[in-house]
Formats: sequence, C-alpha cells, structure tokens
Amino acid sequence: MLKAREAVRNLPSYHPPLGGREGLRLDFNENTVGCSPRVLERLRRLDFEQLARYPEREPLEGAIADFLGVTPAEVLLTNGVDEAIHLLCETYLEPADEALVVVPTFSMYRIYAAATGAQVVSVPSGPDFRFPIEDVRNRIKPRTRLIAVANPNNPTGTVASQEDLLQIAHSAPQAALLVDEAYFEFYGKTLVSAWREIPNIFVARTFSKAYGLAGLRIGVLLGHQEQIRAVRRVSSPYNVNAVALACLPEALADQDYVRQYVSEVLAGRDRLERAYEDAGIPYWPSHANFVLARIGSPEFIRLMRERGILVRDRSSDYGCEGCVRITLGPRPHTDRLLAALQETFETLGIATGASKS
Ligand code: PMP
Repeated sequence: MLKAREAVRNLPSYHPPLGGREGLRLDFNENTVGCSPRVLERLRRLDFEQLARYPEREPLEGAIADFLGVTPAEVLLTNGVDEAIHLLCETYLEPADEALVVVPTFSMYRIYAAATGAQVVSVPSGPDFRFPIEDVRNRIKPRTRLIAVANPNNPTGTVASQEDLLQIAHSAPQAALLVDEAYFEFYGKTLVSAWREIPNIFVARTFSKAYGLAGLRIGVLLGHQEQIRAVRRVSSPYNVNAVALACLPEALADQDYVRQYVSEVLAGRDRLERAYEDAGIPYWPSHANFVLARIGSPEFIRLMRERGILVRDRSSDYGCEGCVRITLGPRPHTDRLLAALQETFETLGIATGASKS
C-alpha cells in the first residue's frame, strides 16, 4: 500500500463544514447575509472570455496595494488566508525546525506546519486567554522559524497588543511572524507596514469574513518585498481564480457595505455579551465577529440546532472545556439568535436577569 509521508500520516484532521448545515449558520464565522450587491452584479456580467483565460493576479495585487497603502511588491494574493499560511510553512520550515503557536487558536497553523515535518510547539495562553508574551519569548529558539498569531484570535476573540507582537518579531529575527488579521474589520488595529521596520513580519487578510466571500476564496499575504518575493516562488501562478479576481475590485469599492455590516455585527456582539452577563455565563469579551462563552451544557448545541441555529462546539480546544462559539450577523439574525438563546436558557433552567438588579 502506498504510504503518505510520516509527517502527513501523523496530522490531526481538521473538521470543516461537511454539509447538512441547515439553519442560521452561526458556527463558522462567516458573513450570514452575503456580499455587496456590487459583487453579485459583477458575477452576473461574467463572460466566457474571463473564464477561458488563465487568471491574471498581478493587476489585482496593484489594486489591493493601493487600498492598503503599500506597494504591489509587498502583496501576494492567495486562495484564502489558508493558502497564505500553507505558503509560509512551505517557504520557511524545514523538518528540523519549530513552529510556535499560542493555544487555543486557529487549527490550520498546526496542520500546515506539521505537514512540513517541523515540530509544532504550543504555548498555552494565560488566564482568560491573555497573550502569554513572556512564555512565547522564552520558547523562542534558533530553530524557531515560524510564529503564527491570529489577532484577533479564533476561537477566543482576544487580542495580543501591537507592542507584544513587535517584541516577538524583534526577539526572533530568524522566524517569520505571521500576524493573521482575518478579523481585522471588527477590530481596527493592524500591523500592516510594520515589516518596513522589522522585515520578518507578515500580515494576512481575508475576504471571507466582513466581505462575505468565503466561497470565492480570496486572501492576501503582506510583507517585506524580499520575503514576498520568496513566498511568490512557491505559490501557484493561478492560485486565485478568475471569478474571484473579477469580483475583487467591486468588493473593495463598496466600503459602505463593509462599514454597515461591521457596525451591525458589533451591535449584535454587545447584545450577545449582555445576554451572557444577564444569565451569569462566563464569556470572553471579543474583538471579532463571534463570542466564546463557557455555557457548560452539551445539550445547548442540540437545543439551539432544534431552534434552527447552528453554533460551534469548541470544548475540545485547549482551555475551552464546555465552550461554545457563536458568530454574529446583522440585526435580524441577532434578534433570532437572542430569542433562541433565551428559550434554550429556560429549557436548561439557566436563570436570566442576573445583572439587571
Ligand atoms: N485565519 C483565521 C484566524 C480564521 O479564523 C480563519 C477562518 N476560520 C481563516 C484564517 C481562514 O480564512 P480564509 O477563509 O481566508 O482561508
């Protein structure tokens, strides 16, 4: 029987959506209402020429560079942030190297890093999922060649300060520091351009969340031009498809859509956090489009599904026993979510109104 490489045989499996996700999908941090109407209009106008030709990534890298205030040489368009992570691992990790992640976090860092044969070192986050800056610094070794930090972090919604991230980049000049800003639009702080001072910093962004284009698969990897040049060597020249490239300028142009969507998500996040407070349920104040809470009951997820709402069980993540992550959307979805939540709390005998006195 043909054998996969040992590193591949040992990989943990990631469980993506496997179908059957009927209902209001608040389980994968997607946009729950869809993208800008301008993108849909562009899709309707696609013609055979655009599909017949190999896609040209470069002009769009120019558009993104303008939008972000960087140069095209500092931009690589990718098939989602997932591919950006994969490419960084391929570019920098040798089997004898170490990749460092702070857990709990997004699982694809571990998978792509481990697939190269490198050792993945997990540094546990501090109390309340605080970023363990001292522990990270102490774990950095000459063989540490990749450090991946989601900021804001998934599944916790917590953040590392800009100072901490810069300190890490300074302490590990031999390592690529990936600052994964997949949830940037809900947070607002960025390390874009920081690589001009500290050239081992990379930033990743996605169109899967605030822009509502998870199905198109578009992400961006940003970094020092010398480093991006190296990563570009590994990337497939046609990694981003023609449909995604055609839609990208429309998505970028409709910033009103993004602002409106983000403001509704943030209002929903406040309401959900207040509902948890009222019910005395521990949660972690979030900087992203989701909230992690320790609801404790394994029944909760089933009861929410019965009410047509999908939420994500995170209880097997490090430090997340009994935790559920719920994605926020626009106001009507928050209304539905909160109504189902109240009913479910009642069914479970969880008293609400704790903070109202
Ligand atoms: N990074 C983080 C932190 C994420 O949570 C996700 C999506 N769950 C991704 C990257 C993947 O983004 P994309 O859809 O652009 O591959």
